Amino acid sequence: MTTDPRRRIPRTDAVLADPRVAAAVAVVGKARVKDVVLAVQQRARDGEIGPDAVVDAVVTGLPRSAASLRPVLNATGVVLHTNLGRAPLSGAARDALVTAAGTTDVELDLVTGGRGKRGAGAMGALADAVPDAGGVHVVNNGAAALILAATALAGGDAAERSSTGGARREIVIARGEMVEIGDGFRLPELLESTGARLREVGTTNRVRVDDYAAAIGPATGMILKVHPSNFVVQGFTSSVPAGELTGLGVPVVADIGSGLLAPHPLLPDEPDAATELRAGVPLVTASGDKLLGGPQAGLLLGDAELVHRLRRHPLARALRVDKLTLAALEATLRGPVPPVRAMLEADRDALRARARTVAAAVGGEAVDCAAQVGGGGAPGVDLPSAAVALPAGYAEALRAGDDPVVGRVEQGRCLLDLRSVLPVDDDRLVAAVRAVTVRFSSHPVPAVTHCLHPEGASS
Ligand SMILES: *Cc1c(COP(=O)(O)O)cnc(C)c1O
Repeated sequence: MTTDPRRRIPRTDAVLADPRVAAAVAVVGKARVKDVVLAVQQRARDGEIGPDAVVDAVVTGLPRSAASLRPVLNATGVVLHTNLGRAPLSGAARDALVTAAGTTDVELDLVTGGRGKRGAGAMGALADAVPDAGGVHVVNNGAAALILAATALAGGDAAERSSTGGARREIVIARGEMVEIGDGFRLPELLESTGARLREVGTTNRVRVDDYAAAIGPATGMILKVHPSNFVVQGFTSSVPAGELTGLGVPVVADIGSGLLAPHPLLPDEPDAATELRAGVPLVTASGDKLLGGPQAGLLLGDAELVHRLRRHPLARALRVDKLTLAALEATLRGPVPPVRAMLEADRDALRARARTVAAAVGGEAVDCAAQVGGGGAPGVDLPSAAVALPAGYAEALRAGDDPVVGRVEQGRCLLDLRSVLPVDDDRLVAAVRAVTVRFSSHPVPAVTHCLHPEGASS
């Protein structure tokens, strides 16, 4: 008598009783583990694997965590890579996130037992970091900061419109600053979604103070200056610094984008909050996860009364940041130098020495190259860097590895640029490359591969 091997396929309960599978239930939840078990049992029923292999196949197929986001080594040389989550957080910020993840005193005064000011610690850190700002506020991201300012100063709600006889209020903005910030999001559309009307001045390449002055009228709600953070216009150009527009009798908002709080010697053309505020600009907006090196956030810095008005606007509640953001932002501002700053300031010779060490360990070649700040700022600025060059086929294989690495393909080679990798991760990088080499030793390196291009150019 022959027995159908399918009868020997272990039942779900039996698979779940395996200690390795039971441990996974505690990490990723029963439902996801069950899905894997059902899929593997089906493979056994289809005869793809034997009944005895079911439990091992389940263990191999189990997800490693409940969330699908995976750690990735950014060896693209684009320090702020939007597709890779922009700024990697400092150890201090990560610790703060974990602490804040539980119940925390975000809005409670533990001394009095009364309600505390939400995020007082983060606001204090920001105020200390930008002493020229009379008031500070934090929202979800740079776009939210702009939306809040535009809504409060020029938005189209009925009560506000009555002051202009029913007309929509205007945001005066230079033509050359109507930018797309990435993934199809366009600043002009974002601003118009508030009900404001855009009043464009100047031409694509040039604008003068007179152009702004001529456009100001009773309907003007604000002047907006936007830093072109992801492209450069060269040649016959002129623009007006925000500080020169403050005498026109309407609020000026400067969207500096990058979140540089003070001037940085390596990025002389990048605008910073302190300089704008000192020039008299009443409101500066910026992102938290670009050059500041913190969590995704939108910073509003400026005139105390104006910032207070924005904070009390009904929309502010909808743009409110989470306790996790507040914790990470405060730790970024108060704690040790965040990774983005360390990467930006890394010395070329130190990068070269690391490239030689990694290259020797993996059998690649150490080469000089040029890295970039990325979508977060400083377009067109080359940061002198060093990389490990490997055959182009490595790019795809490294991306698909157990510990994924994203490099860039340049002139037919895969470059692993060390400027966007922290020194503590060099060993991880070596291990990831070696794992690919081992795989290639049984399957030869593909000669040509898809060109991987660093998407970081958009912001
Ligand atoms: C990045 C950027 C934004 C958008 O900021 P997010 O934090 O991504 O919402 C807006 N304006 C400028 C100038 C930027 O550089």
